[in-house]
Amino acid sequence: MSENNWNLEPSLESVAQVQIKPQYELFINGKWQAPLAATYFATVNPADEKHLAHIAQANAADVDLAVKAARAAYDNVWSQLSGAARGKYLFRIARLMQEKARELAVLETLDGGKPIRESRDIDIPLACNHFFYYAGWADKLQEAFPGQQMEALGVAGQITPWNFPLLMLAWKVAPALACGNTVVLKPAETTSLTALKFAEICQEAGLPAGVVNIVTGYGDTGAALVAHPNVDKIAFTGSTAVGKQIQKACIGTPKKVTLELGGKSANIILEDAPIDQAVEGIINSIFFNQGHVCCAGSRLFVQESIAEQVIAKLKFRLQSIYVGNPLDKNTDIGAINSKKQLETIEEYLSIGLAEGAEIYQPDCTLPSPGFYCKPTIFTDVAQSARIAQEEIFGPVLTIQTFRTMEEVVQKANNSPYGLAAGVWTANGARIFGLSSQLQAGVVWANTYNKFDPASPFGGYKESGFGREGGRHGLSAYLQFKN
Ligand code: NAP
Ligand code: MG
Repeated sequence: MSENNWNLEPSLESVAQVQIKPQYELFINGKWQAPLAATYFATVNPADEKHLAHIAQANAADVDLAVKAARAAYDNVWSQLSGAARGKYLFRIARLMQEKARELAVLETLDGGKPIRESRDIDIPLACNHFFYYAGWADKLQEAFPGQQMEALGVAGQITPWNFPLLMLAWKVAPALACGNTVVLKPAETTSLTALKFAEICQEAGLPAGVVNIVTGYGDTGAALVAHPNVDKIAFTGSTAVGKQIQKACIGTPKKVTLELGGKSANIILEDAPIDQAVEGIINSIFFNQGHVCCAGSRLFVQESIAEQVIAKLKFRLQSIYVGNPLDKNTDIGAINSKKQLETIEEYLSIGLAEGAEIYQPDCTLPSPGFYCKPTIFTDVAQSARIAQEEIFGPVLTIQTFRTMEEVVQKANNSPYGLAAGVWTANGARIFGLSSQLQAGVVWANTYNKFDPASPFGGYKESGFGREGGRHGLSAYLQFKN
């Protein structure tokens, strides 16, 4: 437990209901199959560095088996079913996920390090809601796209990151199945467990064999999926660097591609904003999920006249942030997902100092063992600083000031990314004015990090292309014939 500057009695979530097998195989054609090369890797709990399970490492030959299974299931079963029949399976999966919500939440927290409050209240309920939402569309595709002819794409290869493991799976699997595709999904290597639990749910739901296949492994497993000639669609969420590699690998092939990539989102506080709410919004925008959020408001822009007040309140608020055991219901900031990611964040802290920015961290003691990072804010940050330009993907906020609307729009848009933005003001006209000028796929007004299955999500510029969620999310898995 951490010894924070205020003492809370620990309130630990029970792990009793979670069954973790010592070893997991690949989920191919509705069965658990040992990897052909008989290789496995370990997954650990980042909160205490303890071993959790061994997980099968799929190579290109395993991926080929999974793609063949998905193709056969597409040709023989899934493409023959009516939308209503597909919807029934999706509703069944959604209900089973809901029944097992507590187990899934604890598993997500154990494997990934996020606070139980978030996995319990955000990740898992939203993942269930995505299945319910797309289950409802399965027999209404014609209503979603009136007057259009459409068909499924075929086999979708899907690759997910470690920051929202089950939620990103839901964003991809639910619309793909609703539209009549079959899938081969590769989860991130540090957080495969909820995807494997999801495979058990597919079995329990009686989903026909081969409709969902889960191939665990490292980046080269993902690369083998991308390179497979019999995959019709690649849906990727992850870093911009890997997204660019995937885009290159798909050039000249008929594969359809959607990429949800990195971000460096601007959160803008205007002088007429309700300050206390805005400070809570800043906390939520960047320290939620340890800053492991693609759309995190990692660049804060505060209007000069209120900057001193906002920064003072933010520092005060940070002193009561609880960094500690992710299973503790008091915890605000849990564990960084992996040692590698912690090292990346720490390197950026050194870069920020070397660039001359001023650092502030609250006075708290981090737990040990485990991978933890104090919430950090940098002031005196230059627009050109690497800490203001590059995605850090941790609980690190840069703060800059501005005087005019023109200046803040120019600064906010001066980024290779364009995933999201936040605007805090009491003036509705300014909300409309800024949101129309900000180059970002989502602009939140007087709130941040709000998600809903009906609302499309995706980026501008190097934050990727394509949208997930809503009706837009359906079109990513359909071929239109007009
Ligand atoms: P990552 O390193 O790009 O990995 C993402 C996934 O791709 C993982 O499953 C990874 O496997 C796999 N992969 C790695 N190299 C590959 C290759 N050459 N070909 C195919 N697949 C490959 O990203 P991450 O570190 O897991 O996730 C963090 C990033 O995701 C951040 O940049 C964040 O902004 C972004 N993200 C974006 C969104 C969005 O909606 N825009 C949402 C969440 C996260 P391994 O795990 O085995 O390396
Ligand atoms: Mg893990």
